[in-house]
This record gives sequence, structure tokens and C-alpha cells, in this order.
Amino acid sequence: MADTGKRRISILGSTGSIGVNTLDVVDQLGGREAFDVVAITGNANIALLAEQAKACGASLAVTADDAQYSALKDALAGSDIEVAAGRDALIEAGARDSDWVMAAIVGTAGLAPTLAAAQRGADIALANKECLVSAGELFINAVAEGGGRLIPVDSEHSAIFQSLEDDQHHAVERIVLTASGGPFRTWTREAMAGVTVETARAHPNWSMGLKISIGSASMFNKALEMIEAKHLFDLRPDQIEVIVHPQSVIHSMVGYTDGSVLAQLGCPDMRTAIGYALTYPNRPKLNVERLDFAKLARLDFEAPDEVRFPALRLARTALERGGVQGAAMNAAEETSFHAFCAGRIGFLNMADITEQVMDSMADYGAATTMDEVFTADAEARRRAGEIIAKNEMAA
Ligand code: NAD
Ligand code: MG
Repeated sequence: MADTGKRRISILGSTGSIGVNTLDVVDQLGGREAFDVVAITGNANIALLAEQAKACGASLAVTADDAQYSALKDALAGSDIEVAAGRDALIEAGARDSDWVMAAIVGTAGLAPTLAAAQRGADIALANKECLVSAGELFINAVAEGGGRLIPVDSEHSAIFQSLEDDQHHAVERIVLTASGGPFRTWTREAMAGVTVETARAHPNWSMGLKISIGSASMFNKALEMIEAKHLFDLRPDQIEVIVHPQSVIHSMVGYTDGSVLAQLGCPDMRTAIGYALTYPNRPKLNVERLDFAKLARLDFEAPDEVRFPALRLARTALERGGVQGAAMNAAEETSFHAFCAGRIGFLNMADITEQVMDSMADYGAATTMDEVFTADAEARRRAGEIIAKNEMAA
């Protein structure tokens, strides 16, 4: 690509909820006048991927699904946009030279392409929490060795990042992750046992992809975020707190040794965190709703219930055990999420299965290479799959 002096960016997972919001922010901040879009990637939604590629003038469009290559090629016929498909092409999209990469593929599928971008030194705007939960320090080290910056996009972690004062890490006592509590905040476990995917995905405040919506209902999303926070901000497990805050206005907080608590607030709109990651350390001018405190009137808080939402307890267990527990939790949760969506298991079984897999891998030592992370991930998926199949046989 010729050097145009514009910021060169790539968006991994452009067709998802974060991806679409990222393209909106890019448009708000000047679009093709300000940015060269190097690569965008999607999966099954070929029509949207092609439409996005044409609209933003991407040089490369990649679908993760090999079988969709011709469909994407046809949809982009007559343009000079390069087309590719499959796992290796996704990694190539991450590896292709650009300044900034939005990592917004959902699940562990995002790890290898994001790693490719990190290793070549791109700034990584990290929405995909799963790769950090799974690969932890190895991922952090890969970014550091590549020389790029890691800028959190997850709203809680963006809030903490924004509330951290330079050179005051030693004075951080705790971080407080806020959680909306999801659609089942006040439900009993008995009531949760029979819920469908449709009920579970209806998040009260945020509009998001399916996995994170279900994860908000089970609080597995918060569990993953606790581990994400540990790695991003180098915290001990006892420094990570969760508080249920149903309005999702305070996006998270940092408590300091002098008793001060700094917070970042805003309307629940991911474009604020995305815009911050795109222009960091500057703040962009964004057309998003402003908070109206008089209308808001109050902010509520309540302690999380680890009995009704065991995912939080599992995250604490994973943090305390170390080893490959993050990878095991992440992979078992992803496998059981797919089984829940397919109607093979109930809502509460997701935590049961994840706990069984984590316990069975409790004595595994920490991964020292990415290959070991992928091996632990595959082993946890295999074990979760076995439990799911056994339960079906017994039913
Ligand atoms: P989504 O389901 O809306 O989009 C996921 C994207 O990944 C899509 O572009 C999809 O095509 C692609 N994808 C799906 N499966 C793939 C595969 N196997 N290989 C390659 N690409 C694949 O998800 P989302 O809500 O945008 O979330 C994306 C990531 O951002 C997740 O890790 C999520 O936890 C995180 N996140 C999302 C939000 C939010 O508001 N949506 C907030 C914080 C963090
Ligand atoms: Mg979040």
C-alpha cells in the first residue's frame, strides 16, 4: 500500500457488534480522509463484510469460513479489494502491516490473528477478552516484545485504564469492576434453570453479540473480565472486586491507598471506549449520547451473589490456582456456551461443566509457550465435550 500519511488500521471481526461500532467511530473521525483500512475480517455474514469493505475502501477482506470464499469473491467482483478465506488468511490479516488493530473476533478464534498483529508491533485495541484470559502473560509479553501498545476496549477495562494515574501503580489498592447483573439479576436459581437462549440474550443495558450477552446473563462475562483485569493491570486476586451496578453508568473504578476512588462514567455505548482506544492518549469528539444526571437521579449498587452466579467464584478459583486455569475456564465456558445455544444443556449446566473441567486440570502447570496454551485449550474443549455427551446419554 502506498504511504498516504493516513493512519493505517485493521479491524478483526468487523461484522460483529464491536466491529460495526468501530467502523462508525472511524466514520465519525474522518473515514477515508483520515484512515487507510488495511484489512477487515468476518465470518458468515458475507453481505455485510462486502458492503463494509466497499464503504471503507479496505485493501483486504477476509472471511474465516473457507466455504464462503467464492461468495465473498463474487460480492466484491469489479472492486480491487483483495479477498481471502480461512484460518491462515485471518492470521495474514492480523500480520499485514498497519498501525492499529481492533481485536474484535469473538472467542479463542481471535487469539492467533491478534497475536500476529501484536508480534509485528501494531497497537492493539483489545475487545476480545478471551485471548487474554486464555494466554495471559504470554499474550502481554508478545505485545511488549512487538513494541506496540495494548489499549483495552472492554468498557470496564477502558474505564480502569482511564482512571489509572501515571506512575501511581504502587498506590493502587484495588479495582472495582462494575456489572449490570444481566437479565437474571433478581432471579432464583430454580427460575434460571429453565431459561431459553432468547430470554438469556436480552441484556437490559447493552446491545452486544450473542456470546457476551449470554455471558452477561450467567456472569461468565464478568468472570472472564476479572482474569482479563489481572493480566492487563498486573493485579493480585485480592485486588479485584466486582460490584453489581444495574444502570451500567459507572463503567469501573480504581481505589487508591489514600481512600480515593476514581471512576469513568458514560452512557452504555461502546463507541466511547472504541474512540478512546483509537485516539489514545487524546480524546476524540464523538456523537454519542451524553449523561443526563438529573434524569438518571440515582446510581444503585449491590454485592454480587456467587451462589446464584457461580461463574464469579470460578474466576476467583482460576486466579488463585494459576496454571492453565484461565485457558481451561475460557475453553470450557465457550464449549458449554455453544452446547447451551444448541439446546443440548441447560443454562446452569454451563457453570457446572466449566467447574468440572477446571477441577480436572487443576494441577497443570502454567503454559510457557503459545503451543501449550493451544494444547490446554483443546484439552479443556475435549473434556467439556465429553461431559456434555455423557450428560446427554444419561438424560
Ligand atoms: P459478535 O458476535 O457480534 O461479533 C464477533 C465477530 O467475530 C464477527 O465479526 C464474526 O464474524 C467474527 N467471528 C465469529 N466467529 C469467528 C471465527 N470462528 N473465526 C473468526 N471470526 C469469527 O461479538 P461482539 O459482541 O462484537 O464481541 C466481540 C469481542 O468483543 C468478544 O470477545 C467480546 O467479549 C468483546 N466485547 C464485546 C462488547 C460488546 O459490546 N459487544 C463489549 C466488550 C467486549
Ligand atoms: Mg465488559
